[in-house]
Amino acid sequence: MSIVVKNLTYVYNEDMPFASKALDNISFEIEDKDFVGIIGHTGSGKSTLIQHLNGILKPSYGEIYINDFNITDPDLNLTEIRKRVGVVFQYPEYQLFEETVEKDIAFGPSNLGLDSEEINNRVKLSMKSVGLNYEEYKDKSPFELSGGQKRRVAIAGVIAMNPEVLILDEPTAGLDPGGRDEIFELIRTLHKDHNMTIILSSHSMDDMAKLAKTIIVMNGGKIEFMGTPREVFNSHANRLKEIGLDIPQTIELAIKLREKGFDIRQDILTIEEAKQEILRVMRGRGKC
Ligand code: ADP
Ligand code: MG
Repeated sequence: MSIVVKNLTYVYNEDMPFASKALDNISFEIEDKDFVGIIGHTGSGKSTLIQHLNGILKPSYGEIYINDFNITDPDLNLTEIRKRVGVVFQYPEYQLFEETVEKDIAFGPSNLGLDSEEINNRVKLSMKSVGLNYEEYKDKSPFELSGGQKRRVAIAGVIAMNPEVLILDEPTAGLDPGGRDEIFELIRTLHKDHNMTIILSSHSMDDMAKLAKTIIVMNGGKIEFMGTPREVFNSHANRLKEIGLDIPQTIELAIKLREKGFDIRQDILTIEEAKQEILRVMRGRGKC
């Protein structure tokens, strides 16, 4: 399932005196099975873009194609798109509302008109995918769970729709480092083992450097850069800092070591790569 965005512009409150352009003529293409990280500071347009990808917002100008379907065509039945493209909004746990975990996760699939056996299978499978034991959690109220668990229930509700593309808006916002690692591990598994195309926005550059295959950098409603993490973080480190973004710690370290005269590669994305590169340089200097 490929996603093509052509000349997308979105203006909030169009025709009003306080109209504001949130997306400014952006175009890009996402391949099937890609893992895309959208980065950009607050207000750069990440959430607005995400809400266009399953038809929640309609473009002011431009078109969006999902597998050759023009989802901006007013005659297209959006239910078909929403079965294929699942969106987990920011702080999705605020949208939990049923009295049990099981009912909450079953809500989406029930609306697809599936029979109860299929719904039950999907609830069980999606709970397993997010690491929640069915028997232990199915009858609990979502409200008695921890922050990280609530978020996993909310993600399970979207996974239970069996989407081919899973889009998550800042899925780790507000979680502690342990909760953040768990959610990223879960997303990594969904991509790897369940073959889902993943698109997520995040402020965690270290995780994006490790996980994403493609990075989109948003700035002021436009795409500033799009490419592999190595291309984006390494080649454009200075520009990213200028527009107020962090760069992965490994690249920051490599830049500092180069400034001190070490002949170290700068395009290092993981701790293991950093270790190997530092050992190589030290060996060259006869230090180990
Ligand atoms: P991000 O998710 O990167 O923080 P958003 O997509 O939320 O960015 O916002 C992009 C721009 O659109 C910002 O200038 C923001 O103030 C504006 N904006 C977002 N939501 C609304 C809204 N509901 N009404 C008016 N302006 C909005
Ligand atoms: Mg946002």
